[in-house]
Amino acid sequence: MRLILVGPPGAGKGTQAVQLAAHYSIPHISTGDIFRANIKNSTELGKRAQSFIDKGELVPDSVTNEMVRDRLGQPDAASGFLLDGFPRNTAQADELNKILVEKSMPLDAVLELKIENSEIIRRLSGRRTCRNCSTSFHVEFEKSKVAGVCDLCQGELYQREDDKEEVVARRLEVYTEQTAPIINYYSKLGLLKTISAVGDVKEITQLAITSISK
Ligand code: AMP
Repeated sequence: MRLILVGPPGAGKGTQAVQLAAHYSIPHISTGDIFRANIKNSTELGKRAQSFIDKGELVPDSVTNEMVRDRLGQPDAASGFLLDGFPRNTAQADELNKILVEKSMPLDAVLELKIENSEIIRRLSGRRTCRNCSTSFHVEFEKSKVAGVCDLCQGELYQREDDKEEVVARRLEVYTEQTAPIINYYSKLGLLKTISAVGDVKEITQLAITSISK
């Protein structure tokens, strides 16, 4: 199974990606997670990406595409993958096409998670993320058992710099201007499946699986 997950920030891509990757036994490849891990470890890649991420802008395609090409070349991606957060513009979608043609790995589906802006802001303003394993919680709707501590690995929960209000507004603009066009791009290729991202996490996963299998 080769899947792409598309949707605005806060649609629950990360949460659904974990469920779907487990269901299909494929690696979950999140470009945002890879960038954050590199920032945490102060790598060259992390240093190049940080200023863009903190402002809610896209990291330049030259950096991102190379990183994804590398990741898709790793052995675990040979039998499938779930891309979360990539591609984020049509130039990245073109580059991904090239990579997948070279590797003879055609996509099976592109799943779009649909959600209103008001709900996005509610979700992101209360989101807390584990520094260690990247699992997301919410201060109101999905509280961790102990405040500030991850239920899964006991890592520290923090508010991502880019989940702060001013940056969220910019991320939504970037999504509308740069990322939303890829929905039409994949629709034309007959790969697009759209579901609502509002409701119970397990029900959304089930909806996603049914929709992908159609
Ligand atoms: P995410 O965790 O997917 O919301 O990504 C967090 C941030 O990482 C984004 O706001 C971008 O700054 C950067 N980022 C993640 N994926 C990409 C991508 N495909 N292209 C460019 N920047 C990206």
